[in-house]
Amino acid sequence: MALADNGDNQSLIGVIRRLPEGLVNRIAAGEVIERPASAIKELVENSIDAGASRIDVIMREGGRTLMTVTDNGCGMSREELSLSIERHATSKLPDDNLTQINTLGFRGEALPSIASVSRMEITSRSLDSDDAWKIIIEGGLAAEPLPASIKTGTRVEIRDLFYATPARLKFLKTVRTEFNLAADVIRKLAMANPDIAFTFSDGERTSIRLNATQGDFLKTKLARLADVMGQEFKNNALAIQSEREGFVLTGFIGLPTMNRRTSSHQFLFIDSRPIRDKLLYGAVRGAYSDFVAYDRHPIVALFLNTPPGAVDVNVHPAKTEVRFQEPGLVRGLIVGSLKNALAEAGHRASSTVSTAALGVFNRSANTPINPRFSQYTSRHISTLPPSASKLKETAYEFQKPSESDSLASSSEETVDPHTGVIEDYLQFPLGAAKTQLHATYIVSQNKNSIIITDQHAAHERLVYEKMKKALQNDGIKRQILLIPEIVDLEESKLARLLEQQIDFGKFGFSIDEFGPGALIVREVPSLLGDADIQTLIRDLADDLEDMGASTTLEDKLGQICGTLACYGSVRAGRSLNIEEMNALLREMENTPHSGQCNHGRPTYIELNLTDVERLFGRR
Ligand code: ADP
Ligand code: MG
Repeated sequence: MALADNGDNQSLIGVIRRLPEGLVNRIAAGEVIERPASAIKELVENSIDAGASRIDVIMREGGRTLMTVTDNGCGMSREELSLSIERHATSKLPDDNLTQINTLGFRGEALPSIASVSRMEITSRSLDSDDAWKIIIEGGLAAEPLPASIKTGTRVEIRDLFYATPARLKFLKTVRTEFNLAADVIRKLAMANPDIAFTFSDGERTSIRLNATQGDFLKTKLARLADVMGQEFKNNALAIQSEREGFVLTGFIGLPTMNRRTSSHQFLFIDSRPIRDKLLYGAVRGAYSDFVAYDRHPIVALFLNTPPGAVDVNVHPAKTEVRFQEPGLVRGLIVGSLKNALAEAGHRASSTVSTAALGVFNRSANTPINPRFSQYTSRHISTLPPSASKLKETAYEFQKPSESDSLASSSEETVDPHTGVIEDYLQFPLGAAKTQLHATYIVSQNKNSIIITDQHAAHERLVYEKMKKALQNDGIKRQILLIPEIVDLEESKLARLLEQQIDFGKFGFSIDEFGPGALIVREVPSLLGDADIQTLIRDLADDLEDMGASTTLEDKLGQICGTLACYGSVRAGRSLNIEEMNALLREMENTPHSGQCNHGRPTYIELNLTDVERLFGRR
């Protein structure tokens, strides 16, 4: 028996035994060794279960010729070695309870499966023994264990994977691809186990080397994530730590402005097990829906710990899928905690683009801007000339200050005769507007910086936030079209739009079916002015199609708001006068999340004067 409980090695392993037949039949069955990376996954999981604090993996020629996994875990005795390669022999389900699994393994099938498609050799030494043993299995047949030598733990060696099944060999990809797939597996397992040191090499070069870290839970986690995902993630990550009814969610999530084209940078773990689960991805998407464009994906590493019995991992033999007893609860926990963290981050935009592209440019630094802005809010409104508060744009309704704001007006601002700058505005974070360049960028200055604002991105966020607020309060103002618009649409898109008829009503749309394949639009939100209704309706239909049935209504509404905001916003390419520019900047200071547009792009870049001086060699 190999029960490790002394010191470092915290093994959850009891005695290996054959599982009773009734239990075997309830375990999700199936082939798990599809390729070298799947063998590596099973072996490394075994080492983690064995309480190892160090795991070294070698994979030669993409796993075709040789793979070894060596650990310093609890090891196995002579008898256990022989048993370990039998089917359904495991030390990990001590009380036959499939709803309470505390180990990564539980099926007792990995070693025999790998042994049946390779030449395998396991050398091991049980913690409480002075003797080491080695067992050799070829084509699934095991010889008697032989005395061997190994200092501690277990070493599994796999040669000539799939040698007896040439068909499988043919499906293997290039050496590099197979190696990278295995590297992904190891990285994921390493993310969940910062207290274990890992190395991964191709026999010549070590491509993963991760030191074990101990200490504060979140700190060690972040250190390991930074080692695996890169320093950039660490610098732009928000910590998550929350709990609901026994579910504990921890981890780190990237700022919305650090986003990617695919969801492959989203790492989700349930009880330390890397999981690919639609529900979890959907929840992450929901949480970010206000901040990141639909075709962009945030970067997250989230660890969910579940109470006993709340989740079933016995769904798929590869153990990468789960079933939740209460999916709604889990979704709520994830969406809620992520949204909170994002809201608290205010409008901190990631430093990534500016540091990478501009070197010294400092976009909105690392300070949550809303608290900083709020002190300016009441003042700016009182000094704002009423006319300056009106962008003469169709979205006018959504960006003029409310009645009470404009009542408190006084226009005492002093204009510097030389610079033409309204001096009071220099105090504001986004400063006094100076000019507009390329009919797209507003250039302004405050006391310490030069600021460049993307007027379309900025205004889009403003319209979006106002629209959300209006939706919560008394609804969006609508306008009746003089001539109703008829939109021809594919049947499936038409049906999808009509399903959402009531929700479209909330946004100020009146839509109805108009014979086969056509839609009649009688009313639109007034913020749209004379926007191109045909194109907008088609875009909305596409949005709904992309989102699919699994998206929640809330996410859909958010997406619709985003599309409308885009249509109702000041276009790039439209000339603004100084008053309009200042009005836009003041409005941004007064609006949550205004550091990024709804697609997660930054709305402005701040170039500190000291950095400018450095650029010119003055410092
Ligand atoms: P499972 O992990 O589902 O139990 P495996 O076939 O992967 O099934 O392993 C069978 C048994 O062999 C395990 O339950 C464990 O007791 C033992 N074992 C496998 N690998 C190791 C290891 N690296 N260190 C110690 N024991 C191991
Ligand atoms: Mg296993």
